[in-house]
Amino acid sequence: MSEIRQDITTNEWVIIATERAKRPHDFTKPLKPLPPEFEPKCPFCPGNEAQTPPEVLGYREGGTSNSPGWWIRVIPNRFAALQPSQVECEGEVKREVANGLFRKMDGIGRHEVLIETPKHNLYFPYFTDKQAEEVVIALRERYLALRNEPNVKVVIIFKNHGDQAGTSLLHPHCQIVATPIVPQSLRRRTAVATRYYDDNGGCLYCDLIQAEQKAGVRVVEDGAKFFVMHPYASRSPFETWVLPKFHSASFGNLDLDAAKDLGRVLKRITGKIFTMLGNPDYNIVIHTAPVKEEDEDYFHWHLRIIPRLTMMAGFEIGSGIFINTALPEQTAPALREVKFQ
Ligand SMILES: [Zn+2]
Ligand SMILES: [Zn+2]
Repeated sequence: MSEIRQDITTNEWVIIATERAKRPHDFTKPLKPLPPEFEPKCPFCPGNEAQTPPEVLGYREGGTSNSPGWWIRVIPNRFAALQPSQVECEGEVKREVANGLFRKMDGIGRHEVLIETPKHNLYFPYFTDKQAEEVVIALRERYLALRNEPNVKVVIIFKNHGDQAGTSLLHPHCQIVATPIVPQSLRRRTAVATRYYDDNGGCLYCDLIQAEQKAGVRVVEDGAKFFVMHPYASRSPFETWVLPKFHSASFGNLDLDAAKDLGRVLKRITGKIFTMLGNPDYNIVIHTAPVKEEDEDYFHWHLRIIPRLTMMAGFEIGSGIFINTALPEQTAPALREVKFQ
């Protein structure tokens, strides 16, 4: 019989199709061929800096802005979902309600792209440790800058890798969006965590790490600073969570040592995923507290890696319930045992 499991962090349900569950090694694939190291038409490749909006951050030794020599570069997204206000001194974001039901507000915010490497074909697992560390340091730097912008309520950091994950641009990059609203999905996560805190007097995620350590069956890596696991109610095969082992509500509170550690953890874990699943399309998302709740005791930031091995179809759209065809108790040990470097 299949199982319906509840995600304690969102109250959402998933169906774990245990009977038709695939074995972890059924997902194994050889690595896809890599694109060239330099792609003349790619706006993110060195030498093409003029094709992007002027950079807001560049890690480079000497040299000038918007010219080659960088190893990490952050630019405004040319096709930004949200734009900075044109008004010099920004006031409140304009909100309107028509007929009581049709609400809208100005699309004020920031939408940036972090180019992770000058090399078109160098994916995160194959970075040097230093490069992996610096990507997280640069994300942190932009988080801290954007959280201070007027009207910014949340800074959302994510990565789309591959067609199935929502990008056809192969050059390794992440995106950062600062929004003037708190998204409902984050509201729900913080509400569930707040209720847990009120009922139990502690952080849900700190308790979850302890419970998973005790259960032991879904642990991928139990490191010095970060805990990596496949959640009990995984929504898709090989969904992987990375949580700081120290309580912290916001990614922005990460100190430099922990940021570097996270870079190395991500390199190792994505490397294992690449090795086992053959460079799959995947998303990474960071769930971090709203700016005004960065120091609260009830929320605990974390990062999710979601390999896109299955499609969201009618049942998922109709019900919000995902059907997972793999058992996290099987995928976590399989991933743990993969040798990568
Ligand atoms: Zn490129
Ligand atoms: Zn916590």
